Amino acid sequence: MYEDFASKLAATMWADFDETPARDGPTAEITDLSTTVVDGNFPWTIVTVETDAGPTGIGEAYPSPGVHEIITDYLRPVLVGENPLDVERLYHLMRESLSGRGSQQGVGTIAISGVEIALWDVAGKLLDQPVYQLLGGKMREDVAVYADCHAGEAMVASAAAGQATETYRPEAYAEAARLAVDDGFDAVKFDLDVPSGRDLNRKSRHFDPPEIDHKREIVAAVTEEVGDDAEVAVDLHWNFSPETAERLCHAIEPYDLAWVEDPLPPENTDAMRELKRRVDVTLLTGENRYGRHGFRDLVEEQAVDFLAPDVPKTGGIAETKKIADLAEAYYQALVPHNIGSPVATMATVHVGATVPNFVALEYHARDVPWWEDLVVGDPLIQDGRIAVPDAPGLGIELDWDVVAEHEKGS
Ligand code: MG
Repeated sequence: MYEDFASKLAATMWADFDETPARDGPTAEITDLSTTVVDGNFPWTIVTVETDAGPTGIGEAYPSPGVHEIITDYLRPVLVGENPLDVERLYHLMRESLSGRGSQQGVGTIAISGVEIALWDVAGKLLDQPVYQLLGGKMREDVAVYADCHAGEAMVASAAAGQATETYRPEAYAEAARLAVDDGFDAVKFDLDVPSGRDLNRKSRHFDPPEIDHKREIVAAVTEEVGDDAEVAVDLHWNFSPETAERLCHAIEPYDLAWVEDPLPPENTDAMRELKRRVDVTLLTGENRYGRHGFRDLVEEQAVDFLAPDVPKTGGIAETKKIADLAEAYYQALVPHNIGSPVATMATVHVGATVPNFVALEYHARDVPWWEDLVVGDPLIQDGRIAVPDAPGLGIELDWDVVAEHEKGS
């Protein structure tokens, strides 16, 4: 059904991008696209691009329903037979092929992102170069990783049992922070939109002074525990109204946090810009934005300090680099969102290696003991950093036996 639809569109909508430029250099043909879902703390969707020249590329799409169908039923017929070295042209071809059906944001862009990452991996392997080299070369030997921390499964379980006051006590946060710092991370992040144990109606996003003070006490406990050993950030997950976010930010200003993430619902850039004008904290947002067009107003209006594009969601490796370059013109920094497997993480490492305004990328899988086992070789994260790999492509090889062990469909 999709193939028929695609062929009907081909004559009109792909006129600019379906024409393969002549070349004398290396070439190959894409022969297949597929997906495999790994049952991590999120359903990590691994994308593979096979070629007739030998190398298979691996990418990752942000966990989202419909990714498999879009990639295998729709993007596969578009890309089979194309040269995987034409990454930029194929990115635009994929966008054109989904024009009006998610090429600008949402699951269509997510599917494209996963394929784009795999194309870079193939291109690097075909040219025997790491992805960072194809992007212009690296400007750092390793990239900083920050640890997204909760207080462990016990915290979540007891919260579900209605013991929120005990579970979300500030001391539990401090203990979790110390564990992450002892593991070598020099930046940690906590969710601050958490229950205090009081029975509140949170739909209005308004919180009273005792609730604000509960959040302040968490920040105080964590920053006192880690001291100068690590920077501390907090994530508010869009759960505060502007007036409450302002009061909360003022309450935690003295603790000099690395950043405050997503204090407001994500849609309204004007509201974020106004909050930034009123408070003295470093603001971050962007994990729900797609592509350079989705970030443009955040950058041009200087509505935040840090941007958090998610590589497997926002358009892939090159698109994220373009967002970083756009932000650089306004002296904003890149702090990429990442809840993925080692594939998404390494795709983000290559972006972080090649732009000046990179701070740190997220690591969200401290609760998944086999995260490192998905990759052949030494652990990727050592002392809170990932070395920028010099092997071709993304520079990692998946252990497909471990993938199979944790696979849950496609
Ligand atoms: Mg977040």
